[in-house]
Amino acid sequence: EPRFDNMLDVFAAAVRDDPDGTALTYFDGSVTFAELDELSSGLACYLAERGLAGGDRMAVYLQNVPQFAVAVLAGWKAGAIVVPLNPMYRVRELTKILGDAQPHVVVSSEKGWHEVLGDVARELGIGTAITTSELDVQTRHDPRLFAASERKPATGCADLLSVARAHAGQQPPAVSVSGDDLALLVYTSGTSGVPKGATNTHANVTFNSEGMRVRLENEGPGGIFALAPLFHITGLVCQFGAALAAGRQLNLSYRFEPGVVLDTLAEHRPAYMIGPSTAYMALMNHPDVTPEHFASLRMVYSGGAPLPSAVVESFRQRFGHYIRNGYGLTETTATATSVPVHREAPVDESSGTLSVGIPTYNTVLRIVDENGADLPPGEVGEIVIEGPMVVPAYWNKPEETAQGIRNGALHTGDVGFMDAQGWFYVVDRKKDMINASGFKVWPREVEDVLYNHPAVREAAVVGVPDAYRGETVKAFVSLAHEAEADAEDLVEYCKVQLAAYKYPREIDILDELPKTATGKILRRELRDAPK
Ligand code: ATP
Repeated sequence: EPRFDNMLDVFAAAVRDDPDGTALTYFDGSVTFAELDELSSGLACYLAERGLAGGDRMAVYLQNVPQFAVAVLAGWKAGAIVVPLNPMYRVRELTKILGDAQPHVVVSSEKGWHEVLGDVARELGIGTAITTSELDVQTRHDPRLFAASERKPATGCADLLSVARAHAGQQPPAVSVSGDDLALLVYTSGTSGVPKGATNTHANVTFNSEGMRVRLENEGPGGIFALAPLFHITGLVCQFGAALAAGRQLNLSYRFEPGVVLDTLAEHRPAYMIGPSTAYMALMNHPDVTPEHFASLRMVYSGGAPLPSAVVESFRQRFGHYIRNGYGLTETTATATSVPVHREAPVDESSGTLSVGIPTYNTVLRIVDENGADLPPGEVGEIVIEGPMVVPAYWNKPEETAQGIRNGALHTGDVGFMDAQGWFYVVDRKKDMINASGFKVWPREVEDVLYNHPAVREAAVVGVPDAYRGETVKAFVSLAHEAEADAEDLVEYCKVQLAAYKYPREIDILDELPKTATGKILRRELRDAPK
């Protein structure tokens, strides 16, 4: 059972239990829980002075830097709903999201403000802007990290650390936060189209953060490395929320860069990390990687994107760690299934798909047909999820809410099945199904075959129009470091393993596949790319 129903109580307990313990590290700088508490209270005082009230939105446009944590906690202390923004988003994407979220405050890096967000904020008339200098991977050894910034912020903007320090020792006006209040408004990454805002309540976020705490405690002590970005639900909940709930340090490193990740692992020796499968593929492919880099880890998790079993096997062979799969959506506040500690997920024999695990505590997954009726084990249908971490609604979207979240049950748009032992498998996204001469082809199955080829680093499969078959299967791959293979070899490799309608007729070899900032391969972009 979770100990709390809101993240303010979770954080207060961490501060009480170990005020001098390290809450965050950033290269060679660090912040304790007491310092994080004081900085966030100071910033919350400033926000309250600026009129930020319960239920108002505060958008955060930052990389994985310590100020991200300060901003989120300050927002929560002021009763606000935090809207994390992908720092790679440009004007068009930000205008759509912020137009929908209508924030009262934006927190941005100075660079992001000057290059992108400033224009959007002025256009939308956002009242309060707070900026901060993000020390990036090039300037990481800058000793000013936690000193008050001396530079003058942009006109009309306050400097985050200066205003937080100016209110040092003060407590923000008391706000009452309950489990039903919204903690986050998170826009889905848009792998499939228009971004929708999921409204994660304090109870949603607390439930999954506490769930991670329990798993961490079962595995033993040690810090958390932030492999996933904090603006994504996995990063926010399974890293930041988990670190607060478990009272452990979170190691930040600006953004995902394989070489920097390896250095940070060697320096801070965390016990736990979570990120998308593509991050593991990139790390494995780095020329300097050694088993020693991963020696401190006790628990390695992958979530938020499909995890090919070939990746799990090669990571284990090379580095001795088993990658635990987990499945969830923004709408389930990250995790909905996981692979229990001391167990391993089975691989479905006929398709080669690795299981995503079993539902987490108090969570129910059902597989349903088109009419919403439950299907028996082994049959493929839509995945429906019920549990304490399912969001109540989409922001400003009553129709999408009525369609997607019926009586608290989330209709995921993913198709999958359950085996006779209760393990779940995600086959694919409903809308990515390829219809080749009337036969259903799920891209993931073909991708899994390609991932088993030693030369393949990344694979994406899409349907392309075909005069004769309606649609036909096409693959895009990138090759492993120093590997050589040509498209014909790869087509032949697939042909012997897949039915005639499933194997890719055409394979393009690219240097790199397009991905979202959270590491998901963008099939849509490949499919729609001009020839
Ligand atoms: P959009 O909804 O706009 O397309 P998105 O779906 O990428 O954006 P997220 O909520 O980040 O936004 O992603 C959730 C999706 O990621 C799931 O619906 C599922 O398709 C996929 N996914 C997550 N974890 C796994 C996993 N372990 N295996 C396979 N697929 C996964």
